[in-house]
Amino acid sequence: MRNVCIAGNWKMNMTPSEGAAFAKALAEAVKDASVRVVVAPPFVTIASVVAAVKGSAIEVGAQNMSDQLSGAYTGEVSAPMLKETGVSIVILGHSERRALYGETDAFINRKVKLALEQDLDVILCVGETLGEREAGKLEEVLKRQVVEGLRDISAQSMSRIIVAYEPVWAIGTGKTATPDDANSAHAFIRSEIEKLYGKSVAESLIIQYGGSVKPSNVKDLMAMEHIDGALVGGASLSVEQFAPIVRYNV
Ligand code: PEP
Repeated sequence: MRNVCIAGNWKMNMTPSEGAAFAKALAEAVKDASVRVVVAPPFVTIASVVAAVKGSAIEVGAQNMSDQLSGAYTGEVSAPMLKETGVSIVILGHSERRALYGETDAFINRKVKLALEQDLDVILCVGETLGEREAGKLEEVLKRQVVEGLRDISAQSMSRIIVAYEPVWAIGTGKTATPDDANSAHAFIRSEIEKLYGKSVAESLIIQYGGSVKPSNVKDLMAMEHIDGALVGGASLSVEQFAPIVRYNV
């Protein structure tokens, strides 16, 4: 039985006061949850959310981080800054970072390595665009993003990595991959991990699905063999929506 992790990516939503109020209400609503729960607020909202969830099981993540430790990198936020603020896990390689900010696999890989060195867990996002899927390139794209994103990561460090399969065409669109389609992409990712790290690492890797996850589809997705959690965007901004996702099995 693999562990399960449900994470909410707030994107550029929630001021510090809004985030704190939301996180307090969420902590109360999911206090009986049996899965790992992560919320990833914008950088400036992290500290108030860390304070708000103190004493609860909710972990606070970041949506991104710098590929450098410190120095003249205007506008960037480093792993040690996140760590000291109370962050335990960082989302890297989200498709919005790849598409809107030109993040490459090599750049993302640098951040993955740095995050692990700095004692942060990582959610590494991978996923194909609609054009890539329609051109029959699903497996080629997933393989490249997994192999390049995890380059030089040891088998031992893999216990700190979660992979999120997020088909780009399903993010924020209301279109969800069918549970079978998602499961087969997850199975493919797991088989690539097995080639790189062997069966036991592959079997214990948490692979989240992301792309328009809602209370109405979470149970069917989570029933699939290779789906071990969810990375949730839009629905993570409402306690009424996110709590039932987190409590899908309660
Ligand atoms: C995301 O941005 O990671 C995501 C899955 O968004 P949504 O749930 O809104 O599709």
